Amino acid sequence: MAEPRDARPPLPLSAQVAALRGVGPVYRDALADAGIVTLKDLLWSLPHRYVDRGSVRRIGELDQPGYGEREVVTVLGTIRDLRQSTTRVQRMTLTEALLADDTGTLRLVWFQQPHLARLLRAGDRLLAYGPLSPGRGGPELRGPAFEIMGRDGTDEAGLWVRRYLPLYRKLGPVLGRTRQRLVQEALARTLAPEEWLPGDLARGLPATLDALRLLHQPPDESDPGDLEAHATPAHQRLASEELFAFALGVTLRRAGRLTRRGQVVPTTPELRERLKDYLPFRLTGAQRQAFKEIVADLTSGRVMHRLLQGDVGSGKTLVAFLAMAMVAETGGQAALLAPTEVLARQHAATAERLLKDQAGRMQLLLGPMKAAEKRQALARIASREASYIIGTHALFQEAVQFGRLQLVVVDEQHRFGVRQREAIKQKGLDPHWLVMSATPIPRSLALALFGDLEQSVLDELPPGRQPITTRLIDPDAAERCWELVERELAAGHQAFVVSPAIDPQDEAKVPLRDIQAMEALLRARLPYDLVVVHGRLKADDLAARMDAFVSGQARILLATTVIEVGVDVPNATVMVVDHAERFGLSQLHQLRGRVGRGAARSQFIMLSGSETERLRVLVETQDGFRIAQKDLDLRGPGEFFGTRQAGLPQFQVADLVRDRQLLARCREVAERAVQRGLSEQQQVWLRQEQARLKLAEIS
Ligand code: ADP
Ligand code: MG
Repeated sequence: MAEPRDARPPLPLSAQVAALRGVGPVYRDALADAGIVTLKDLLWSLPHRYVDRGSVRRIGELDQPGYGEREVVTVLGTIRDLRQSTTRVQRMTLTEALLADDTGTLRLVWFQQPHLARLLRAGDRLLAYGPLSPGRGGPELRGPAFEIMGRDGTDEAGLWVRRYLPLYRKLGPVLGRTRQRLVQEALARTLAPEEWLPGDLARGLPATLDALRLLHQPPDESDPGDLEAHATPAHQRLASEELFAFALGVTLRRAGRLTRRGQVVPTTPELRERLKDYLPFRLTGAQRQAFKEIVADLTSGRVMHRLLQGDVGSGKTLVAFLAMAMVAETGGQAALLAPTEVLARQHAATAERLLKDQAGRMQLLLGPMKAAEKRQALARIASREASYIIGTHALFQEAVQFGRLQLVVVDEQHRFGVRQREAIKQKGLDPHWLVMSATPIPRSLALALFGDLEQSVLDELPPGRQPITTRLIDPDAAERCWELVERELAAGHQAFVVSPAIDPQDEAKVPLRDIQAMEALLRARLPYDLVVVHGRLKADDLAARMDAFVSGQARILLATTVIEVGVDVPNATVMVVDHAERFGLSQLHQLRGRVGRGAARSQFIMLSGSETERLRVLVETQDGFRIAQKDLDLRGPGEFFGTRQAGLPQFQVADLVRDRQLLARCREVAERAVQRGLSEQQQVWLRQEQARLKLAEIS
């Protein structure tokens, strides 16, 4: 792969893109907006697609396709003629170009894209691809995608010496072909960096710069399938670098924490026995084990950062409560942070029940509180009169001064981030952290999200749980579903009905039944008291409606997924999820955990006519970890939590699902590297990667 070396001075990977020819302030800013600041950023942004020149068709050899055929073809030619007009019927803008190569001409047409008249010019060399359609005088391309390959006076023919043409997405004013040129120059001028991967990881892989060349200018003998699938050794080199940097960051942070002195909670065996008096039942083996691990942390003299994982209903809350009690019984304060007010109230109610005559030591702190009430709450927290503090992120407000905060329990970490941890640190506090995950998180993702946390896993459900019958019912047969619900209501039980939250944009695409339509249906079909809750309600209105359901006065709760995060109503024995296909598997499993909490047998019904294969996973298993892994495989880490996940590292090449084994290996190698001490090269590289992958923002 001898590249013609550029005559200009060589550049390190850390050089700014502005050092490249033609990159002025406009391009520089546009690239920076897309996260491309250095040559390294530029080169790690791989082509989104390769055109295989072997597959570029000669225009003269294209046949008029038959009816219903939709063969996708790629052609390369020069624009001979370009015109724009308005159709008489429907008044649509029509752009037409005549594309010519040595063998013939082909008509290209676009509808309603008036900007094309400004973008394209006669004489442009154009690479166009799209499905071939039958036209009047022969085949034509309607609405093809295209790249402008060259324009009079510019010469990008060099790219065409090769079989593969890399295509890059346009970034604001920086066109794909501009990126081609910048990448070419960067590859020609970049100095090969020193090897920084340990031998265990680098063995058998091309060097960094070679890997980048292989991916930006694939040699003719490359396999197009491997390129598309990111399955070449060159991809593995880049993925290894990303994952190793990530693993190093996590390992270092953890190592740093282990040297920090943590508050010692002075427990005794007698105290641990006494705590069990709070419990209305015997702990499961898994709960006992998890509590033991937490006690060991709290007494170790180091700061605890522990993730408590477990399936829905495995009893995480109880374990967290025991940890809080241990702190509170020895003169400290423990705070429990809930993601919503509904959930905070519910935790407070649980704590009150468990604390019995000690309930006065509990304090609830929410955002919207009356001024006097809030003042009193703050005073109780500052004076240590309250030792169990439960609230939403109002707990982080500046006004809150803790008397002696020793433990923070976070329910559903993924809604809290670094910022909240920082806020606590700002108060000069260094408490222990216990994070309860809402849904089981597959190992690979847990490593990525919480890699620097110790883990306790509750892999056992409390005894006496009734299994839940799960059904998938076609909307056409919905009457059967309402009969089942009616039967439960008639027996005195309660029902959840979940409607997907719909934004008006989706509605244009697919007909969905929204929450109003569902409310109308339920009121007509089921003569029982009903409350409706959704995300746009004011906090006290929401709380009042939830109370009506929790107290049993309302028999049906119709909700968008606000209930997902955890109301506990043992008398609710049936849940219906409308448009179940709109939900992730883990989300559905989490919803399902809302029923089956009492002694009666419960039902979980998904109404859906599509994606039945995916949804059937829920019918087949109740194992949250298996469901989570399936969900992750199907939707990828970004969608796993149902939102663009804050805190996931921004890998360009590595993929947490596909590369999970590689990640595990990187963790082991990083562990050894940190023990030995990092080389200077590794430290430099790590700093660059932390900025590029936004690694500093994890956990
Ligand atoms: P999670 O938070 O893990 O979803 P919870 O802590 O809400 O689970 O527990 C679910 C239900 O199981 C609660 O009603 C709780 O009181 C009950 N529970 C917890 N631990 C036990 C146990 N060891 N034995 C019996 N019931 C338990
Ligand atoms: Mg819970």
